Amino acid sequence: MAYVIAEPCIGTKDKSCVDVCPVDCIHGGENDEQMFINPDDCINCGACEAVCPVTAIFEESMLPAEWESYLDKNRVYFEN
Ligand code: SF4
Ligand code: SF4
Repeated sequence: MAYVIAEPCIGTKDKSCVDVCPVDCIHGGENDEQMFINPDDCINCGACEAVCPVTAIFEESMLPAEWESYLDKNRVYFEN
């Protein structure tokens, strides 16, 4: 299980989450519309969820159904 970044990050992407992640597993380049969490490295601490200003971050099992596709979207980002 890991935390997942969903749609609300798009358009905000302020990187508050990056600053608090103890294992530096949140990434995203200049041209990416949102940030992504590497599911292999996330230790499920929840620190990122608490600081996100737009409630874009969810524990995998709590991800709203409408944003289910973001589970793969985060994972796939790290497969390249
Ligand atoms: S804190 Fe929230 S809005 Fe900001 S980059 Fe992280 S997920 Fe995106
Ligand atoms: S839950 Fe913790 S380890 Fe996982 S991305 Fe968020 S801050 Fe990083």
